[in-house]
Amino acid sequence: MTLDDVKLEVALGSRVLALTGLATGIRSSMGHVSLRDPNDPGRFVVKGRGYPIDTLNRMRPENMVVCDLDGRLLEGPPGVVQCNEVMIHACVFKARPDVHSVVHVHPPYSVMMTVLGLPIVPLVLEGIRLVRKPLPVYPRTALITSVEHGQDMVKSLGKESAVHLLGHGATTVGKTMEDAVMNMWQMENQAMMNCYARSMMGGAHAQIPDNLIEEFLQWKPLAEPHFQEAVAKVGVVNTGGSMWSDLMDRAAKELAAG
Ligand SMILES: [Zn+2]
Repeated sequence: MTLDDVKLEVALGSRVLALTGLATGIRSSMGHVSLRDPNDPGRFVVKGRGYPIDTLNRMRPENMVVCDLDGRLLEGPPGVVQCNEVMIHACVFKARPDVHSVVHVHPPYSVMMTVLGLPIVPLVLEGIRLVRKPLPVYPRTALITSVEHGQDMVKSLGKESAVHLLGHGATTVGKTMEDAVMNMWQMENQAMMNCYARSMMGGAHAQIPDNLIEEFLQWKPLAEPHFQEAVAKVGVVNTGGSMWSDLMDRAAKELAAG
């Protein structure tokens, strides 16, 4: 994967944040996704700041900036600097070698839950593993623009895949961009369901019992005899065709359309 490939992937990932609704409307210029350079783990690619139109759905590979793990700008287009909260990405990549992609957006349902002091509880299947236990909360609302605040957020994140930023947004991480984006999307969907549940039932509403979550997580694909029989017939089963593939394909088509 060349650096140009990484820039393309991050531009498409930025558009995916818009396609998923995580960065649209009043939040269409809020947020970013980054990807560590697989050929140089000491640098990463992310959107910058200083475009004529600065919204996630407009991002192109040539708009991307390359930064080091201190948040310094290594390269980017003329007139463009790092995004305001570049330290979110730099500090996570520095502290977590296992992380290759970071997402930061301002998802409204998740943010509202933190302001109300409420944890997200498991209410739907998607993202059930992520919210099985309460996610950590970084207790500040101000933008993360300094190393100190970036490191504090990383302390709150710990070894988890997501951290709330109280009254501000959230940060999710992953081994891949797909992991980081899907974690954010699933978390926000769970938060939305939590808000609906509270509206319908008040604070004493039910949640998916933990033993049922455990049973679900024990499931192994293609383990049952009828699938094993099919696998024996067809050989290697095709993988891919995921929701992520669809999103990236739609983003690529939008990019090609100009
Ligand atoms: Zn933010």
